[in-house]
Amino acid sequence: MDRKVRVRFAPSPTGALHLGGVRTALFNYLFARRHGGDFLLRIEDTDQTRYVPGAEEYIVESLKWCGLTVDEGVGVGGECGPYRQSERKPLYKQYALRLVESGHAYYSFDSAEVLGQKRKECESQGKTFMYNAETRKELKNSLTMSGEEVEALLESGANYVIRFKMPENEEVVLHDIIRGEVRFNTSLLDDKVLFKSDGMPTYHLANIVDDHLMKISHVIRGEEWLPSLPLHVLLYRAFGWEGTMPEFAHLPLILKPVGNGKLSKRDGNKMGFPVFPMEFTDPDTGEKWHGYREDGYFPEAFINMLALLGWNPGTDQEIFTLEELCELFTLDRVNKSGARFNPDKAKWFNHKYLVQKPDSELAELLNGFLVKDGIACEKGKLEKICRLLKERANFVKDIYDSSQYFYKAPQAYEEKGVKKFWKEGTPDLMRELTGVLEGLREFTSPATEEAVKAWAATKEIGFGKVMSPFRLAIIGSADGPHLFDIIEILGKEETLARMRRILEKLQ
Ligand code: GLU
Repeated sequence: MDRKVRVRFAPSPTGALHLGGVRTALFNYLFARRHGGDFLLRIEDTDQTRYVPGAEEYIVESLKWCGLTVDEGVGVGGECGPYRQSERKPLYKQYALRLVESGHAYYSFDSAEVLGQKRKECESQGKTFMYNAETRKELKNSLTMSGEEVEALLESGANYVIRFKMPENEEVVLHDIIRGEVRFNTSLLDDKVLFKSDGMPTYHLANIVDDHLMKISHVIRGEEWLPSLPLHVLLYRAFGWEGTMPEFAHLPLILKPVGNGKLSKRDGNKMGFPVFPMEFTDPDTGEKWHGYREDGYFPEAFINMLALLGWNPGTDQEIFTLEELCELFTLDRVNKSGARFNPDKAKWFNHKYLVQKPDSELAELLNGFLVKDGIACEKGKLEKICRLLKERANFVKDIYDSSQYFYKAPQAYEEKGVKKFWKEGTPDLMRELTGVLEGLREFTSPATEEAVKAWAATKEIGFGKVMSPFRLAIIGSADGPHLFDIIEILGKEETLARMRRILEKLQ
């Protein structure tokens, strides 16, 4: 690559960032890092009607949580700022006018009523209205009016838009890094509005002007923008910027876990998984959406999962740190076809990261749950609990939920278990076992296990017959991790107290 790699993530602040958006940001970030380039954040807020308060902060915070550091852009600054398009407003008009002068764009003065009428006429014939080479001939624009008329209208302050003059029946051949050659015929495209009379550019104009001025080398974005590509390329040509036009890469869609189509935020709520990186409350509707962060995902796991949605390393490896991804990521390993989202796999990734975490770190997180419920437990004990339970957990919350018996003696005993395992001779047996435990000096898991096994052997009863009621006494139910590990963590005193307690309760 002979040109400095500069890529941008250019979201519109129209709501929470969908995980597809985070993946776009991630792929841009990885590409920049891999090539020693720059990763820019530009906020595309030219459509004021779709602006959602808080959305920009949400985007910035999400990228931070994911560890995707922005080199240049909103919140960071840089030489090509400002990076919020609304703050660049005065800049765009000259570019729109440049295209009018060179004959690539024109003023159009048609009222909403006239266009509405045209649309209706077309609909009644089963067609869709397009402002194009054909229809523009009959409409009120600077191509059908005299120069004086146009001047007069502009001076009178009449409403207008500036439209791109789409060439007639031209074959545009484009190259997309992921899709290869893409062909479009311009007769299928309309004369898109580039500039509005409120002084705001539309997405297309602002996007091209900014990518040019910000020296963007590669545009990596979602597949939904592929239909805009011919217009964008024609705009670069019209401006005479084709020589420095970025290369394009359109990422495959993220698909629903089941069925057809693009993953939507509704799928998440329906199937119980988050589609947003962080919790989000829609300021208009008050509707609440789950977030990966609040649901207990580690950012590393979330990023790892996203990286493999549409990209593959070419090996069986599935666990990657962000640094590894930065080294390995290439666009030629991005698939053309959509990537099906698998919520179970997302949990699996979190599990993988959870078991790798140091117990001290997990204990810290676990303690957060305890504190919320007003439970105190010593750090060393929490570390042991994490070590014992993490293999069975996807989230720290799972450890918390399954570790309740460590903080509090069972208040009740699982009925099914009692029926099955608490027989006539059981109290005597448990009383004797209590005595055995009481006599032990060393109360580690192996020591207690050995002693209980030895005692059970002299009694000539099955070890299982002892273990099930013993387990009931300690944790209140008949399943769970290795019981001797549990009692080691509980300690001798607490273990004995629980034995006495069940004997009192189930006499
Ligand atoms: N503002 C567009 C979006 O919201 C950017 C598309 C692009 O990257 O060109 O996705």
